[in-house]
Amino acid sequence: MHELSIAISIVDIASRQAEAASAMSVSRVELDIGTMSGIEYESLKFALSVAVKDSILEGTEFRINRVEPLCECLSCTHLFIPNGLFGQCPECGEKNTSLIRGKELQIKSLLVEQKE
Ligand SMILES: [Zn+2]
Repeated sequence: MHELSIAISIVDIASRQAEAASAMSVSRVELDIGTMSGIEYESLKFALSVAVKDSILEGTEFRINRVEPLCECLSCTHLFIPNGLFGQCPECGEKNTSLIRGKELQIKSLLVEQKE
């Protein structure tokens, strides 16, 4: 399962960050995940619940932010929300556009409980 390997790397990265911050536990991890990233949100949530077993993230709340896609027209630099995978500029009709947001997969923040 694609989502499981992603969940494992999220847990891995977050654990290392928590360790670097001398954390005792992690209360919350916030993730930014684009709706065009190809990730199934429900599958990822389930995969995370499996991946956290025996790690510092066991019991951590995962907050997943859905990032809506945004396209930029390469001709007139107009920004718009695409209808499909490749959007056509609604301003000038240009088909040459680039997706500047919506494919991200990143840890936005980590809320840790520090050691006394
Ligand atoms: Zn345009």
